[in-house]
Amino acid sequence: MSKYKPSIESKRWKPASEAELFEQWNKEPTYEFDLNSKKRIYTVDTPPPYLSGPMHVGQVVHYTQIDTIARYRRMQGWEVNFPLGIDRNGLPVEVRVEKELGISMHETPREEFLNLCKARLDEDEIIALAAFKRLGIQFNTYEDEGSYRTDSPRYRAVTQATFIDIWNKGLVYNDFRPNNWCFECGTTIADAEVEYRERSTVLSYIYFEVNGLDPIEIATSRPELLCACGAVFVHPDDERYTSYKGKTAKVPIFDIEVPIIESPTAQMEFGSGALMVCSYGDQADVMAFRDFALRPIAAVSSDGTMTNAAGSYAGMRIADARKQIIEDLKQSGVLFKQEDSIQRVPMCWRSRTPIEFIAMDEYYVKQVEFIDELLRIAYETTFFPNHHRQILIDWLNRVTVDWPVSRRRFYGTEIPIWYCKSCNEAVVPELGNELEYYQPWKEDPPFDKCPKCGARDGFKGEDRTFDTWMDSSISGLQAIGYLRNDEFFKKGFDTVMRPQGKDIVRTWLYYSLLRTYQLTGKPAFFEVWVSGHVVDENGEAMSKSKGNSPPPMPFVEQYGADAMRLYGALEAGHGSDIRFSEDRLSGVSKFMTKLWNIARFISMFPVPKEIEFKKLTPVDQWILTEANELVEKILPECDILDFHKPAIEIRGFTWNFFADHIVEMLKGRCFNSEGMFEEAEQKSAWYVLHEALKIITRALAPISPFITDRIYRELYDKNGVHVQSYPSVNNEWKSALVEFTDLALQTNAGFWKFKRENGLSLRQGISEAYISPSLEPWSKDIQAMHAIEAIRFGKPEADNFVEIKLPEMENEVIYILSTLNEE
Ligand SMILES: [Zn+2]
Ligand SMILES: [Zn+2]
Repeated sequence: MSKYKPSIESKRWKPASEAELFEQWNKEPTYEFDLNSKKRIYTVDTPPPYLSGPMHVGQVVHYTQIDTIARYRRMQGWEVNFPLGIDRNGLPVEVRVEKELGISMHETPREEFLNLCKARLDEDEIIALAAFKRLGIQFNTYEDEGSYRTDSPRYRAVTQATFIDIWNKGLVYNDFRPNNWCFECGTTIADAEVEYRERSTVLSYIYFEVNGLDPIEIATSRPELLCACGAVFVHPDDERYTSYKGKTAKVPIFDIEVPIIESPTAQMEFGSGALMVCSYGDQADVMAFRDFALRPIAAVSSDGTMTNAAGSYAGMRIADARKQIIEDLKQSGVLFKQEDSIQRVPMCWRSRTPIEFIAMDEYYVKQVEFIDELLRIAYETTFFPNHHRQILIDWLNRVTVDWPVSRRRFYGTEIPIWYCKSCNEAVVPELGNELEYYQPWKEDPPFDKCPKCGARDGFKGEDRTFDTWMDSSISGLQAIGYLRNDEFFKKGFDTVMRPQGKDIVRTWLYYSLLRTYQLTGKPAFFEVWVSGHVVDENGEAMSKSKGNSPPPMPFVEQYGADAMRLYGALEAGHGSDIRFSEDRLSGVSKFMTKLWNIARFISMFPVPKEIEFKKLTPVDQWILTEANELVEKILPECDILDFHKPAIEIRGFTWNFFADHIVEMLKGRCFNSEGMFEEAEQKSAWYVLHEALKIITRALAPISPFITDRIYRELYDKNGVHVQSYPSVNNEWKSALVEFTDLALQTNAGFWKFKRENGLSLRQGISEAYISPSLEPWSKDIQAMHAIEAIRFGKPEADNFVEIKLPEMENEVIYILSTLNEE
């Protein structure tokens, strides 16, 4: 029996062992954020997940990638502030509570409705937190500042204070103007929350009578808006309409006379070239009405039905009114043609339902005047990957109207405004030293005199809430104690990192940059990491197979978080969606077994004191040089916070090189059971195996934090791998032997092939073999590895040798004596 016994006792790495480690992490200082640390602070502006039941694959990958970045930065020597944030404000929970309980928000007492939402969120939060924990996502705690809920009084007080600040700076105004209205959500939404979908529609061709001239042909997909028609546009160069200039056209059914106006927005090549312009038809119509000072008519009301302006169609739902009007137009002979067409329909980003333009009184935050500054900031901020900056630039170039921030919803941060009962002046509280959370819909204001008229007649509280982006856009500021902890804010402001999905660049990233600039005059972020694959608001991968994608957490239980995290890193090439495959995950989990097995094997041998590189055997120098080249390859990728290629490289090195060849090759020397090697050679082997294993575990630690930590604790440091530094390039580790790496590995493969083809076990001996003279430094290890009695170089003179062509190598062979010795 060997005198060597593995110091790692457990024979198998079990996913269940991960949970034990997590408990240990919570008791140790590794993840505590220390404001007084001498290290530079690095704040991860955690995307507060919106809670909605079990996690999806995209979400799992997204959050584990962010955790990987936090761990990497910590190992690089930053003081990492990685708070847990939970986004709880906003529509989705309201809609869910309404649907699940069959109630209507506006018909339920507000306090009661809020409590129902809160209870629902608390349930979802438990699921989310358990999943984070299980995945090894280790947020820090800093008293209680290290975590936040966007609906907590503390968070909302900061949101309100920042609003009062920009109100005082004159950046907020009230306006009655048409804007995107979502019927499903029952509120105005911002342009950033509108997306366009193509939909098939029917174009109806109708005549508009013109006195004394031929009627004008109009093509419209929305005849139900006829009652809101304000003008007919024709192109100034369109010769068909020269004589129509200054005339009016009669809108059928409603008999309204509207002016015929020359405008370059009419497209001559489109149908008859004449364009019906309706109030609030789309953004272009809204602009046209403003440009030509036309009197707008609202055809659609905020509940999705036709207004009184629609005459006999009043009260009908939009789609029903359209059907009826088409019928009536046909009856009266005005509709002369119909054809199928494709239409770009503006949709609400959250509810995925079509929106309409409806005029409402809303509060607007100025944003148009900040675009130039934000463009400058966009160019000056570091982006990972660099090309994702363009998503932001494109959006900045599309912003044309200010940001409506008031919402007619309940579960959000209240707009801290009261209106004077005497003069209706809107009054905000003063900003004091203490942060206050205001609920104007049920509270009296913290003042009793109107600053405008001086009346003390009382105030009426605002009952609207903010767009939730008003809250989440200051998550980065919240994470460093903005308005709560000046010292923290000063120390942490310049190094906040924003990780996020690319689908919310125009919302979360954009609003964060805008708001931080308005509040501080500075860029919000030190660096911005935009996840390459598409994730939706819930962090869910937008894959076509989404509907079929099984929830991932049961697989985490089965295969382990480490495997799931490595799987995500391996799959997440930039720009590709993640499609979950249990087969591939199971394959990755075998890698964990492999890693555990080699670590356990290596654990049989003592960890020698440091040995100088040049005192190692040439083969051992070669191994460390290979390990060093791995580090050289992965560091540039790690530095752009992309762990996809590092994951591939680390796995390849560990499995295909280290486990398959090196561990096998050094076994003989490590045991030295036949006294073939000198003691120094044996120690050199032990040393190099441990050194390489340290590099592998440290390099893999951010991606697969559990197994690497366990191995490190068992073998090298009871404080674990996460307090170590990330591997760096060691310039002294250079060996010319790397030139022969392929030859050495393929020579091994040649011996295995020979034994396999001759039905021999790998342990069975060979009496004599010839290998390439270049492999002289390896000869003793190769000899021990393949149990070769006599190893020689070059080509044998005798002809009783078998020539084995090396796999994957041109013109390289080994020769093996064909008379096999008996075991
Ligand atoms: Zn909606
Ligand atoms: Zn007043």
